[in-house]
Amino acid sequence: MSDVKALSHPVPPGGTIGIIGGGQLGRMLALAAARLGLKAAIYNDEDHAPAFQVTPLQVAAAYDDQGALARFAEICDVITFEFENLPADAIALLESLKPVRPGHRALETTQDRFSEKNFIQSLGLKTAPFEAVSSAGDVVKAFAVIKGPAILKTRRLGYDGKGQTQVGSAEDCAAAFARFKQAPSILEGFVDFAFEASVVAARAADGSFAAYDPPENIHENHILRRSIVPGRLSRAQGDEAKAIAKAIAEALDYVGVLAVELFVGHDGALIVNEIAPRVHNSGHWTIEACACSQFEQHIRAVAGWPLGDPTRHADAVMENIIGAEAHAWESLARSGALHLYGKREARLGRKMGHLTRLKPKSSR
Ligand code: AMP
Repeated sequence: MSDVKALSHPVPPGGTIGIIGGGQLGRMLALAAARLGLKAAIYNDEDHAPAFQVTPLQVAAAYDDQGALARFAEICDVITFEFENLPADAIALLESLKPVRPGHRALETTQDRFSEKNFIQSLGLKTAPFEAVSSAGDVVKAFAVIKGPAILKTRRLGYDGKGQTQVGSAEDCAAAFARFKQAPSILEGFVDFAFEASVVAARAADGSFAAYDPPENIHENHILRRSIVPGRLSRAQGDEAKAIAKAIAEALDYVGVLAVELFVGHDGALIVNEIAPRVHNSGHWTIEACACSQFEQHIRAVAGWPLGDPTRHADAVMENIIGAEAHAWESLARSGALHLYGKREARLGRKMGHLTRLKPKSSR
């Protein structure tokens, strides 16, 4: 792709950051941009989007609508994403019109679990064992290598546990593959981890790098329930997690915030689960607990500004507000820093908001 546009100067105050995706991440990015005197334009595939409520610059059109994407690019100085699953053609079109950060390399690598895991291993980092499953014949071969218990995951478009299922036998695996309508998948060995963690970090175009303290993450029904910082990671593991994020960001020539989800083994090893090429739910606590939040940091990086200070000045617990839990907003408002995303329907499993509680910083 030779016609990729680069950003030669920082986007000055008054400039416009284009954000593809209008969910809560886009909303919090737009709010952070506003604080820096930058405008945010949102592109979303539905009329009602949490991020549309906080900026008048908005386009509602399908993610493969080339005409709408081109009109959107016209009003933006630089374009970024709140989700990683934009079709490759759309990314190529946007990159031919305006600087796009992070670029196609990071998006393509992380859109597909198979290429993502191969990339992670190529850096000498650990992942769960995995095998590609592209046909019914592969199921038996893959299960013979990985053995149970294992998890079958579609290579593309999975999130919050969608497009994945635990399997205990080759028969289970074949049935799950049929349920996935034979979508290209990977069979992944089940990791008996001690706990989960993540590291959120930013890289600027000049190569400067800033990482947040890695939280411990607790999932329920495959959805993040809570992030705790400091969690159970030792200082050495925290440093190792930051070094992992740095190695990944450098190898992808990444610009912006990224998150690396980790399993922490009983032996203390850090195993990379996946890379999110965007701001991340496990970094929401940085809004209240850090000098510069992950959202401001991402806007700074994509706008070509100097990175902010990721120092944490408090201990924090961030709790997601899921589905009907949002009806208790009055009592939630009494118990911490409440964020509600403006979603109309409190559907089961839907992230409606989050609550962050701070405590004075402990010694770790
Ligand atoms: P993912 O969609 O890959 O982020 O997976 C969502 C959640 O499922 C993770 O945060 C884990 O709690 C669980 N999970 C995913 N892959 C594995 C694995 N290989 N072994 C154990 N648990 C897993």
